[in-house]
Amino acid sequence: MTKLKELDTYAQNTWCPGCGNFGILTAVRKALGELRDEGTDLHKFVIASGIGCHAKIVDYLNVNTFYSIHGRVPPAISGIKLANPNLVVIGHAGDGDAYGEGVAHLIFAAKRNININMIIHNNRVYGLTTGQFTPTSPTGFKGRSTPKGSPEEPINPIELMLSSGASFVARGYAARTGLLKELIKAAVKHKGFSFIDVLQPCHTFFNTYDFYNEKTYELTEENHDPTSYEQAMVKAREWPYETEEKIPIGTFYQVEKPTYEERLSKGRIPANMTPGDIKTVLEHHL
Ligand code: SF4
Repeated sequence: MTKLKELDTYAQNTWCPGCGNFGILTAVRKALGELRDEGTDLHKFVIASGIGCHAKIVDYLNVNTFYSIHGRVPPAISGIKLANPNLVVIGHAGDGDAYGEGVAHLIFAAKRNININMIIHNNRVYGLTTGQFTPTSPTGFKGRSTPKGSPEEPINPIELMLSSGASFVARGYAARTGLLKELIKAAVKHKGFSFIDVLQPCHTFFNTYDFYNEKTYELTEENHDPTSYEQAMVKAREWPYETEEKIPIGTFYQVEKPTYEERLSKGRIPANMTPGDIKTVLEHHL
């Protein structure tokens, strides 16, 4: 049985008291511990982050970690995965990070169906820079850069990922750590691009706990079929990130299809190649 203390680091946690990031960290720690108990060594995990409050999560986990740059987590972990397919790579990004600065990278990672996992800490505000609106802030959001209210409608990342070709699409909530842990484990076990949008209240600049506690409900076998693209789209559109509608959380969509690695290597890279075996690749191509 993995002791979660093994995942502790010496870093002092500097998130604000009450931040939703604590719930995400708890869920990730539990998921890693259980995946380790089920046979995946902790040294096989590589966790990368972007820029923002979320990014500090890599300081608080005693596995292989990497600070990427703003919006560039998908290409960074795609490179890691392609260089060593035996690794389990998980990328953390914020909503400004993934849906603003780096949205093209997220879309193309989904389109390729590369076998990586993206967990988005979606607090719907730029927390680290003290409260500007982001791509998922609701219309009328009043913050540092929009004192009279944002005039823009938010994007719906669930809908965006479904239409981009992601083969695993889910939404979690930072205060529902048990469900989030299960979603993270399912994402890691899924072969292909996995995406989890996590509703993460920013206690300091956009405190959404009461709203999410009241509005969220869980997707189950009784109310949803995650193999149906059409049903997934209907569920995705139930809450467009700014209304008072109920908010589904859980797995919207999961299907099997060829991964980028499988398509890329077919007929090009020797099947017996091992990570780092550059000589074999060069001999094959030159
Ligand atoms: Fe968390 Fe918001 Fe504080 Fe950042 S500013 S640590 S997101 S509560």
